[in-house]
Amino acid sequence: MHRRNSYRTVLRRTIAAVFMAALLETTADAATERVTIPILDDVTLTASCTQVLAEARARVTAMEAIPLDKVTPESILDQWDKDQIMIENVTGPVAILNNVHPDKKVRDAADECSLKVSSFYTELFQNKKLFERVKRVKPATAVQRQFQKDLLEAFEDSGVSLPVAKRKRYKEISDRLTELSQEFGKNVRDNTTKLTFTPEEVKGLPQAYLDRVTKDANGNIVVGFDYPDFNPFMANSQSESARKRYYIAYMQRGTKRNLELLDEVVTLRKEIAALYGVPSFAHYVTKRRMVENPETVTRFLKDVKDVVTSAEKKDLGELSQLKAELTGTSPASTTINRWDLDFYRERLREKRFKIDQEALRKYFPTRQAVDWLLDVSEQMYGIKFERASVPLWHEDAMFFDLKDADSGKFIGSVYLDLYPREGKYKHAAAWPVRGVSRKAGRTPITALVCNFDRNGLTHDEAETLFHEFGHALHGVLSNTEYNQHAGTSVQRDFVEAPSQMFEEWTIRPESLQLMKKSCPDCPVMDKELIERVDAARRFGKGINYARQYLYATFDMALAAEDPGKAMDVWRTMEEGSPMGHVPDTQFPGSFGHITGGYAAGYYGYMWSEVIALDMLSAFGDQIMNPKVGRRFREMVLSRGGEEPAKQLVERFLGRPVSSQAFFDEIGGKKRQ
Ligand SMILES: [Zn+2]
Repeated sequence: MHRRNSYRTVLRRTIAAVFMAALLETTADAATERVTIPILDDVTLTASCTQVLAEARARVTAMEAIPLDKVTPESILDQWDKDQIMIENVTGPVAILNNVHPDKKVRDAADECSLKVSSFYTELFQNKKLFERVKRVKPATAVQRQFQKDLLEAFEDSGVSLPVAKRKRYKEISDRLTELSQEFGKNVRDNTTKLTFTPEEVKGLPQAYLDRVTKDANGNIVVGFDYPDFNPFMANSQSESARKRYYIAYMQRGTKRNLELLDEVVTLRKEIAALYGVPSFAHYVTKRRMVENPETVTRFLKDVKDVVTSAEKKDLGELSQLKAELTGTSPASTTINRWDLDFYRERLREKRFKIDQEALRKYFPTRQAVDWLLDVSEQMYGIKFERASVPLWHEDAMFFDLKDADSGKFIGSVYLDLYPREGKYKHAAAWPVRGVSRKAGRTPITALVCNFDRNGLTHDEAETLFHEFGHALHGVLSNTEYNQHAGTSVQRDFVEAPSQMFEEWTIRPESLQLMKKSCPDCPVMDKELIERVDAARRFGKGINYARQYLYATFDMALAAEDPGKAMDVWRTMEEGSPMGHVPDTQFPGSFGHITGGYAAGYYGYMWSEVIALDMLSAFGDQIMNPKVGRRFREMVLSRGGEEPAKQLVERFLGRPVSSQAFFDEIGGKKRQ
């Protein structure tokens, strides 16, 4: 996942005060040009937030006073860049501390600040005087023209042209949506429910797992909802009733309250569409995306459905056959339930492909896998990472400086926070803490937050690590003129593409053999094992894409003209799928994508994959070809949002975008 602070537009990137700028300078190292995230306590955080917003409002007043005949790209766009950077100096750190700081007081103060900032942005983009001035700018370059266009769209999307009453209502809705999204996220993040399982119920689980997890006085294991607890359990516990109990609890982790929150979100978004006189929230959102309208999404999803429906049935048929074999039941009466899926998929991978995900951890010890990832990135893109010791929010976090390999020039920094702990963000995501600006001489920072096992990664987890690091590279390798266009400030349905492409580097022999350098004592996957792992990860694609299709369709349904209650919509959809709906589960309560930035945008994962697989084809069978890597850095990553994604990609490919590779992939055709 890639995180942005706002639910809607590219423009609402994280933003900082003069006070804060001064604070940050105290953490800037003159010799390295390094800037670090200030580890704020709750009091300082709140004070910085208040001050930056006061300063930002003063700057708005100053910009409002610019006479219309004195409007120039410098007086408006360059100044906008400086103001945004000032705000980002506070909101960038606040957004990440919100999700990783061990002290709940700090996380709560960060929530408060984010609310105020979001409210400020709506106010900013409803400001008619600023709108008028941005409109009058005569851009001198293509980048300035894009910047102006982005700003004008943000003004339009925030209601600047609506009549006063509607504009006021838009602001109320927008503020409320931010609150709802925060509460939704908090209910998942702060859920500390624990389940206990008896020794009988944990049969089949790897010894390393059993040694690691908490135990009670009776020798039962005590586990929660973190991935390292849940995922291996579902894939390995031989007790179907235990898996069922864990699955149902896990699917309730968002709590009932989140279903209420989600319904309110959907109703408010429908009201936004009504304010604009468009048929649905999807219409309101997609006009700024690569797809341009909801109809394109619907067509795309239909094409996906046509391909995946039979693939899913075929995959499930194979799994239920295996279940029948292993449990001694008759194939006709055996069905695969949702809590069986991971378990039997693992058994099939073991049986058919001789792949045991748990056993793969020895190939990817977590810390060495990180060094390997950095090494691969260095060779691909002509860069150099150097670990450095700086103040951190938790001892588990790591910090790296990034330099250009050829010139030795300082580029930016990356934080990695890889292991689970209480109160920490539960998924895997990259936070663009600071965006680059050539104009302002500003260097970027991205922070990666994951929840891995300390001892080693399965191949699936290695893919997740590369995926998230793909976002980080997009963030720190962008070299845009304005902060506005930095890194992942691209169209939402493109943002996943570079990351999805980078996953491929975990399964090609050329990149895998580099692991030897980062871990001389680790076994290296040979060609034969790689082929088996690849075949095993390909098995079940039908099931995966069918699930992705369901999520995307559900998301679009909630943004449609007549959305209905989220849980009812979901139940009906899931009931229509081959595995059906499990009573007492409430998936929508933990589907943070919808309350976050992916509303009417979940399809973007598959849409981005179309682009990702197409871009991958440029590497052919030479995945470590540095020439193509550097070209990708230069033509796609470095350009951020300076041009629409389609143009960047087509220039990189030297031809129009094609969805052939994607449909081959989901149809199960072997990739060349
Ligand atoms: Zn992602």
